[in-house]
Amino acid sequence: MDRIYSDQPVAQAITAGQSGTAAPMPSVVVLPPLLGASVAELTEWVKQQQQPAYRGQQLHQWIYQKGVRSLDEISVFSKQWRSTVADVPIGRSTLHYRAAAPDGTVKFLLRLADGQIIETVGIPTEKRLTVCVSSQVGCPMGCDFCATGKGGFLRNLERHEIVDQVLTVQEDFQQRVSNIVFMGMGEPLLNVDNVLGAVRSLNEDVGIGKRAMTISTVGIPGRIRRLATHQLQTTLAVSLHASNQAVREQLIPSARQYPLQDLLAECREYVQLTGRRVTFEYILLGGLNDCPEHAVELAEHLRGFQSHVNLIPYNPISEVDYQRPSPQRIQAFLNGLKQHHIAASVRRSRGLEADAACGQLRAKKVGAIA
Ligand code: SAH
Ligand code: SF4
Repeated sequence: MDRIYSDQPVAQAITAGQSGTAAPMPSVVVLPPLLGASVAELTEWVKQQQQPAYRGQQLHQWIYQKGVRSLDEISVFSKQWRSTVADVPIGRSTLHYRAAAPDGTVKFLLRLADGQIIETVGIPTEKRLTVCVSSQVGCPMGCDFCATGKGGFLRNLERHEIVDQVLTVQEDFQQRVSNIVFMGMGEPLLNVDNVLGAVRSLNEDVGIGKRAMTISTVGIPGRIRRLATHQLQTTLAVSLHASNQAVREQLIPSARQYPLQDLLAECREYVQLTGRRVTFEYILLGGLNDCPEHAVELAEHLRGFQSHVNLIPYNPISEVDYQRPSPQRIQAFLNGLKQHHIAASVRRSRGLEADAACGQLRAKKVGAIA
């Protein structure tokens, strides 16, 4: 089977296809679940089912616009064909639990085909509907402040399981999703193939602009550089959370193998290669990384860097006893960065009542993974 969304950078894929001699195009075999597939892939699939090509376009419309959960629901298809493909999975999840916060944020626990449960959040603002999607069942990175990291890791999410989260939120809110952040459970850069496949589908099939998507990573050596070569137009957010190597190691186990200086160097390369700025995420933990000298240290690292710092006040999780800093301290840290001409803002906490921090609701309702 030809893998349509490989980790191979677009530029290389194009040159490989331009080798001169007319190499035959590999035939694309689309295997269900069908969600996440393009019009071309779905057309190929219906042709394999001995159906006319235009059925591919119809199938696309019924999957992405009407949100069907079974091919049997597609009334424009003949009854006879429907009965033969009724069991072909589209790849939609089922709702396990839904929690709405007074500010409109809705958290979903979704049950996947193998029974695993993942977390997705819909965050409405005046003009936007943002979905915070998961990329893995759990996360192997084990960050000390993160409920997902404390809960263990099971597997990567498939392309359709990522796209499904967005359709689910869109259907629940009865409103088009405008923005996507890969900030739910999991480390997206450990699942690059499926994340890039989902980005393509969410852009072309669901109609969400790539510039309205953010991929957040704690940093995996070499992967930010690789992402840059794809020239994706998505925003890159890097979870820094510390202004020096010692504090970062304390919070993020993988930082030991990936020194802060190397991570920042790769981010600089990303800016050079893409011309796009990087967002740095920085969870403020009272007394640990929120002192005035930390702001100065962070500013030193980021001087002249085309970036924006997002300060995130820590949302308490039950497994550890870090402190959320006071509003005054948060403001002082922000001012410290601004005095050093670092672009920064504080991220407003949404849906605290619905266990806003990454993986918290799942941890409470389902428990640890491993
Ligand atoms: N693995 C990726 C993306 C998922 S985590 C990453 O780490 O970037 C998404 C965001 O949730 C990260 O910025 C992370 O720092 C934040 N987060 C996790 N636990 C949190 C907590 N207890 N309080 C506030 N933010 C938290
Ligand atoms: Fe994984 Fe991100 Fe949580 Fe760290 S913060 S454990 S990388 S989900």
